[in-house]
Amino acid sequence: MQKALVIGGGFAGMTAASFLAKDGFAVELIEKNAELGGRNRNFSVDGFTFDMGPSWYWMPDVFEKFYNQFGYTTTELYKLKRLNPSYRIFWPEGDSVDLPVNREDIIKLFDQIEKGSGKGLDRFLNEAGIKYRAAMDEFVYKPSLSFNEYMNATLIKQSFKLDLFTSVSKHIRKFISHPRLLQILEFPVLFLGAKPQFTPALFSIMNYADMELGTWYPEGGMYEITKAFKKILDDVGVQIYLNEEVKEIRIEKKIVNEVITHEKAYHPDILVSGADYHHTEQILLKKEFRSYSNKYWEKKVMAPSCLLFYLGINKKVPGLLHHNLFFDTSFTLHAEEIYDTHRWPTDPLFYVSCTSKTEATAPSKCENLFILIPISTRIEDSPALHQTYLDKVLHRIEKHTGEKIKDSIIFNRSYCINDFKKDYHAFRGNAYGLANTLLQTGPLRPKIKSKKVKNLYFTGQLTVPGPGMPPAIISGEVVSKFIVNEQNSNV
Ligand SMILES: Cc1cc2nc3c(=O)[nH]c(=O)nc-3n(C[C@H](O)[C@H](O)[C@H](O)COP(=O)(O)OP(=O)(O)OC[C@H]3O[C@@H](n4cnc5c(N)ncnc54)[C@H](O)[C@@H]3O)c2cc1C
Repeated sequence: MQKALVIGGGFAGMTAASFLAKDGFAVELIEKNAELGGRNRNFSVDGFTFDMGPSWYWMPDVFEKFYNQFGYTTTELYKLKRLNPSYRIFWPEGDSVDLPVNREDIIKLFDQIEKGSGKGLDRFLNEAGIKYRAAMDEFVYKPSLSFNEYMNATLIKQSFKLDLFTSVSKHIRKFISHPRLLQILEFPVLFLGAKPQFTPALFSIMNYADMELGTWYPEGGMYEITKAFKKILDDVGVQIYLNEEVKEIRIEKKIVNEVITHEKAYHPDILVSGADYHHTEQILLKKEFRSYSNKYWEKKVMAPSCLLFYLGINKKVPGLLHHNLFFDTSFTLHAEEIYDTHRWPTDPLFYVSCTSKTEATAPSKCENLFILIPISTRIEDSPALHQTYLDKVLHRIEKHTGEKIKDSIIFNRSYCINDFKKDYHAFRGNAYGLANTLLQTGPLRPKIKSKKVKNLYFTGQLTVPGPGMPPAIISGEVVSKFIVNEQNSNV
């Protein structure tokens, strides 16, 4: 039996490990933290339970497809609830809008904001639906080692349909012009980590995910997803080692010879790293075995980092929904500060998740707030600044909801760049990987197979297809199937 070792217990590592075990490998998985899940962990304190990372459950079809391949449906693993409305957006003028769950109501909402724009949205979503299906059937499950994979007549035809070569920002403006509507349509691509002007129009699939497939929440919180993945790892017999950190990968004759942790040495036939790609290459491997140089990484556009607050509040905040986007300041300035000038933001846009609106993640009469402020990965973390930013955003939440919050905080924890580095070895403290820009999509991303070491592979949010839980799951499937195909063709 071939031995496979997987580094990292995030979604990409867990998925790769599950498929490799199902395909007959003896699989071991090493995770440096005390729990599985990678960015998707949680913690409980004083009756509050906080999801630490992801809070938007989008593209339920990707989770379902993964579970089905291991004999489960999503409902057998956890109960999903569709949030209605999907989310609330607060505007600079002090008003807000709630995104309804069905298409006709979203079209009506667009028409209310700008007469006639509903028709434009309808056409835009029809196209986005075609792209979504083409992307899921043809594109995102490709290893993307070379452009040749895309060189067949159907795919070339599809690639024009998919608008791979124009930006999503330009594309949206063909259908819609009102600034508020543009902001509603440009928000989902922010999940991909770059400005809409530099994100391929293909990613209007994110609007399809938002407006057609919906925003969901697993009863019990996002950590239920990690638990479901753990169940599958156990089913297929993956041996899991927690609190164990890989310190070095030793190579001999272009083959992984030894993987050294602070506990012991492993000798796998195949090594898959689901840890941060940059960390694996630049820290765990000697220079001569790295596929990419420091210079290469320096030029990469990372998805933003973020300043997070986990707050326990001893009162209810009626003006909030489960998901709230504070788009009440200039997005242009904030985006410049994240991607161009690399400064702590002057007046940032931010996001608030209040899971206690949906279930008891806080003691009764209390509220559980998770606040996320996107920031550049090229600034110094400064714990002294955290309180300044908390004051700024609380002031704006209070202004919009009309509810005093600051004096009602009974639990407060912040989490930022230094924590991402310490907890996940995240390159420059990125929160969710390498951005999906026009020049960092598909074959233009770091490759799933090492160019220098024969049995070393990569998975996760810094390789294909990109950031987010669904892409991480797809990445794990792509790498494991690639390895199995390679093995079969070598026999
Ligand atoms: C605040 C935040 C909010 C987000 N919101 C959403 C959302 O709403 N929806 C969504 O879909 N996605 C969201 N994301 C993105 C999503 O969480 C990630 O894209 C995805 O979980 C990445 O999975 P991964 O397996 O690639 O990496 P990770 O989750 O980072 O897993 C990598 C694992 O490798 C481990 N590791 C690193 N180095 C070593 C080592 N040397 N030895 C052993 N183990 C090691 C790490 O500890 C980690 O557990 C969010 C992310 C963050 C941070």
